[in-house]
Amino acid sequence: MEEGRREPIRLVTTLEPEELARIEEEVQVIRSCVPDWVWNGRSLPVPIDLIAREIYSLRVRVVSEEAMREAIGEDPEGHYGLSGLLLSGEGEIWVSKGELDYDWGSRRHRFTVGHELGHFVMHQSKQPRIFCREIENGESAEDESAGGQIDQNDPVPRPVPEAEANSFSAAMLMPIDEVRKRLAAEPADPVADLQEFFGVNRKPAVRRVETLRLLQGVGQAGGQG
Ligand SMILES: [Zn+2]
Repeated sequence: MEEGRREPIRLVTTLEPEELARIEEEVQVIRSCVPDWVWNGRSLPVPIDLIAREIYSLRVRVVSEEAMREAIGEDPEGHYGLSGLLLSGEGEIWVSKGELDYDWGSRRHRFTVGHELGHFVMHQSKQPRIFCREIENGESAEDESAGGQIDQNDPVPRPVPEAEANSFSAAMLMPIDEVRKRLAAEPADPVADLQEFFGVNRKPAVRRVETLRLLQGVGQAGGQG
């Protein structure tokens, strides 16, 4: 690998179906490696903190945003909120304490842990410290409180690794076979159904529905249970 050269950051609103299928397969492999005593593969919500700890030796810590900014040497008055931080050297995932105060906070917490775990699995060899601003991680506090107002097309362009980590987290928290079963039952509001069933916030559920639609075009991605 050449040092000192960085590829230009590619921004995307959605990943290519082939990339989504690759992430899906990766998550299937991980799920198949989780021993029963950590997770039986069925109970919900998916115990993502426990999986991070027991499979990847990553401790999840809930910390203030000030502490996060300090850890990455950023202005404490920084404009954007920080949702999560992966400190792979220390073996820790830090998650924003402030977000837990919201009624959507525990769902967001799980998504952020899944997102940082995605960085650990897919990107950490290039970058030992990865921090994720709210805007990259997925949604802002305003989005969460906006209820059904979110634009379903989610047009905010993100760096590819952020989009990948989002897809990884959604795939971990909403196992594909279970999602297929839920959608096959044709719920009146598929997004709301996934939110409730898997304990996730709205945007990940919106994206999951979209991902499954895209995956139909690339054949069977991770069909077996
Ligand atoms: Zn991130």
